[in-house]
Amino acid sequence: MRFAASLLTLAVFAGVATGYANVRRAPRVPAAVSADPASVAWRRSRSLGVPWGGRLVNGVRLPLAGERYFTWDPVRRRSPNRPARLWGNDRVVRIVLRVVRDYDRQFPDAPRLGIGDLSRRYGGAFGPKHVSHQNGLDVDVYYPRLDRRERPPRRVDQIDRRLAQWLVDRFVQAGASQVFVGPNLDLTGPRRVVEKLWNHDNHLHARFPRTFRVTRVIGRSTRSRAIRATTLGDAGAPRRLLAIGCIHGDECAGTAVTRMLVRRAPLRSSSITVVHHLNPDGFIRRSRGNARGVDLNRDFGAFSQPETRAVRRLVRRLRPTVTVWFHQPHGHVRGWGPSAAAARRYARLSGLPFRGLPWIEGGAPAWQNRGFAGTASYVVELPPGRLAPADAERHARALVAIARSR
Ligand SMILES: [Zn+2]
Ligand SMILES: [Zn+2]
Repeated sequence: MRFAASLLTLAVFAGVATGYANVRRAPRVPAAVSADPASVAWRRSRSLGVPWGGRLVNGVRLPLAGERYFTWDPVRRRSPNRPARLWGNDRVVRIVLRVVRDYDRQFPDAPRLGIGDLSRRYGGAFGPKHVSHQNGLDVDVYYPRLDRRERPPRRVDQIDRRLAQWLVDRFVQAGASQVFVGPNLDLTGPRRVVEKLWNHDNHLHARFPRTFRVTRVIGRSTRSRAIRATTLGDAGAPRRLLAIGCIHGDECAGTAVTRMLVRRAPLRSSSITVVHHLNPDGFIRRSRGNARGVDLNRDFGAFSQPETRAVRRLVRRLRPTVTVWFHQPHGHVRGWGPSAAAARRYARLSGLPFRGLPWIEGGAPAWQNRGFAGTASYVVELPPGRLAPADAERHARALVAIARSR
């Protein structure tokens, strides 16, 4: 939008220079340019009410086409879709463009992705075809066709199922609270998120939560206590911070920081994932080890415990760009090797001193620093006792600054 406007200005200017002030001479905006995120008039949107009875404030419009996607009008049955049907919450529009980008990276030879309806400019009743799509949090995405035609599939045997499943997975990763899929395609995903719904055999319908905060059980402790991870924002965003509030059950002051963190507004190009308690059994018993007395931070080679296996799955799936492990009681930030620079930065932001100390074998940072090149994982040793709210706030701010910048 902004780009189109500046082109128009340019055309008018050129027209004046040659004696013609004819805006219709403005060159057509090539599709590849118009979907550049820089061409979207970004602003902070608000989604009010519920998807089946709500409104959209400060919506953002998805460009009509991009190099790797087209839009489709399901009523007039043609491309592009009408601009009036392509308004969404800015976070949803960002996610759609990011899914398109990842789709292009993963499947450079696949046909362009078809995007259907989002919401009306100010939300409200969408009209026939949709009960929901009322507050900028819903989007329809057509499954790519095996014959590569740029229109919705009419039968399930025309659908590229591999690409369809990838899309379902990617929208789940992006934090969709629901992904509706047709009953006749065997697409799978987490229960209660991926749901079968009639009339959805040629497209998926992704719905996003208003808060963009998703909590999932990532595993169970030795005593079967749930270990939960909460993600703010799109877990597939380019910058992904993971913070573990407590791994040693008697060093849990860091949970004050992680709890403060999940109450923040989500970030735009970053996600924050927190696990308050990786060792819930140890926390209940106030012991360093888990229910079997195993020091989890020496188990990141053997992965003999359910707690370390749970966080291994999380790290492999999320691929955090930065991981921060909270401990106590030394009152310093500990970094080494590839993570030293990142740890130093945290020390500066939080006011704790930095210590360069080699990692302990079997510890989580040793495992991550060795196995995940280009990422950082380090330890924040908080002082003994409880963390005062002002200190927790300072650490939460440090984490947000780090999530934004790396
Ligand atoms: Zn829909
Ligand atoms: Zn510790």
